[in-house]
Parts: sequence; structure tokens; C-alpha cells
Amino acid sequence: MRDLEATFLAVFREVKPRTPPPPMQIEFYPFTRMNSTIRRRDGVLKVRLSDLLEAAPEPVIEALAQILLRKLYGRPVPELFRARYRRFAGRKEIAAKAQLVGQIRGRKRLQPPAGRHHDLEAIFEDLNQRFFYGLMARPDLGWAPRAARRHLGHYDPAHNAILISRVFDSPRVPRIALEYVLYHEMLHLKYPIKMKGSRRCVHSPEFQAEERRFPEWQAAEAMLKAL
Ligand SMILES: [Zn+2]
Repeated sequence: MRDLEATFLAVFREVKPRTPPPPMQIEFYPFTRMNSTIRRRDGVLKVRLSDLLEAAPEPVIEALAQILLRKLYGRPVPELFRARYRRFAGRKEIAAKAQLVGQIRGRKRLQPPAGRHHDLEAIFEDLNQRFFYGLMARPDLGWAPRAARRHLGHYDPAHNAILISRVFDSPRVPRIALEYVLYHEMLHLKYPIKMKGSRRCVHSPEFQAEERRFPEWQAAEAMLKAL
């Protein structure tokens, strides 16, 4: 059994050397995502670490303790700790486990794919035939509940879901603009996020090259700008 409290206590002493450490309650918790939280309540420091970290090596737990405690007390977090934690979280087997756990635990609320003006499932199948030989397994598809303008589309690997902004479900939006946004999110399915060193590389060169295979991409990008 690892001694979480000893780790957090040692880090606390480093971050707040002149403050007597408060009582701590630290546990692993089955969050939907690889998430960890810290808060103070009634003088007790309550920490919940993602249970995906149960098997993490001690230096990773220490890095996370540094991040959480420094954030709580408004101290800068050295890049060393951030990088160490990210490296662990980005490992292939950890990311795969996080994704699986997310699918099982999380059910994101999506509005059904058949919108008032556009049907995401039909468009998905059409794009699937045209660009992916019909081989792409269909994820959950849905309209994002709020008409987000900043986020046109989003692929959520933890829920294996593609969300498209409600803004697109309108007679004023040409189908081609919507196709292009959905195509982009489908490419995220095809090219899972890779870690480059410890940095996330979301739109790799292969990703971008394939995005340009959408025949009307220039027209589509102009339409998106106009929206
Ligand atoms: Zn993207």
C-alpha cells in the first residue's frame, strides 16, 4: 500500500514551510475522466485522485501533489512537475484505459443526431463512404446543447462522441460547411492525439494533409468564416 499522506505531507512542507500542515484526507476516486481535485473544508485538506493513478509510480504522485498543492496556495508550478505528470497521463496504455473508463462511466448528454434541418447520422454515413471506405465505426453523434460559436465541433475520445454546435442546424447553413466540420472531427477519430515528447499534437501533418482532401475545403472554410 502506498502512503499517499506521507507524499502530500512532504510536498506540503516544501510548498508551505512555515505553516503547520492541516489534517489531510486523500483517496482515489472513480472520476469519469482522469481528474484530480483538492479543496479545503473545515480545516481539512480533501484530495481526490483519479483511480487511474492507483498504479502510478511514486514520482508521478509526487508531481501531482506538487501541482495540486501549489495551485491551491497560488504558487507557481514548475514545468518539471507538469511535464512529468503529462508524460504519464499521455502514455498509450494509460490513455486507452482512461478512454475505456470514460465510456463506461460517462454518458454525456447529447441531443439526438437528427436535427431540425440536418441529420448528423446521414451526413456521417455519407462522409464515411466517400472518404473512409465506409470503414469508420460510428461514434455517438449529437448536437451540442448550447449554440457554441467558438467550438464548432468536438470529438470526445473519453465518450467516443462527436458533438456539433447547434449553430449548424439551420437552413441558412449550407450542408457543405457542416460536412467539413464533421469531416474534421472524423479525422480526430482516425488520428488519435499523439504525445510529442510531452506536448499534445492535435493536428499532425498527416491530419492536415488529409483534411485538404475534402474537395471543397476552400469554399467550406470561407463559409465557416462567414458564420
Ligand atoms: Zn481539431
